[in-house]
Amino acid sequence: MHTLITDVDNTIADTRKRMERSLSEIGRGGVFDRTREEFGGFHKFLSEDELDRLWRVFLSDKYVHLDRPEPDSARVLNGLVQRGIKLIYLTGRHDEGGDTMRPGTEEWLREHGFPVPGEGDVRLLMKPERRADDKVFKLRELRGLNGETSRDEARRLVGIGDMPDDASAYSQAGVEPILLDWLGLFSRDDLLNAADDVTVLNSWEEVESFVASRYLVYR
Ligand SMILES: [Mg+2]
Repeated sequence: MHTLITDVDNTIADTRKRMERSLSEIGRGGVFDRTREEFGGFHKFLSEDELDRLWRVFLSDKYVHLDRPEPDSARVLNGLVQRGIKLIYLTGRHDEGGDTMRPGTEEWLREHGFPVPGEGDVRLLMKPERRADDKVFKLRELRGLNGETSRDEARRLVGIGDMPDDASAYSQAGVEPILLDWLGLFSRDDLLNAADDVTVLNSWEEVESFVASRYLVYR
């Protein structure tokens, strides 16, 4: 069985409303419109203290319900799972004792009709500590997953994300990297240069055709 790994934020969940609301909550709502087209662009407008407060709000369950599912993502993931692909959500959202985004994330997935963690082979892997580095965490998990599958030549791993770092982590761990370019938060060159073997796609519909042609028809 092949495995598809997907990032959550800005890959299946459009987080713009949550970011806008979080900026408002720390009293800097005006920054959203000035920086909406550049990933992390608000950094140059906020102090260290404001950034810290922003992340406390943004990276919590408080406004996760404002996230919108990316078009076709739930339909495509359900279809691939039904056709025998194993699904793993791998996210930098944290799951720390007393400070966890797991309940909100699971509820959001269920509410929007995504395959639900715990049902069948679907898993949700979250960062064990808020402060841990996303890429270090992802790389460690991916290497573990690749270790589980590498003894079986017929099984392959494919990973989907939105950030150059996602593709770099996938590639380094032996997972075929796909980046989605639909929000325009990174330049096309940044996405294409993220890894030698990266494929950049524009929508979940394109992901569906790509994964089906490579991992279903010819397996
Ligand atoms: Mg992301």
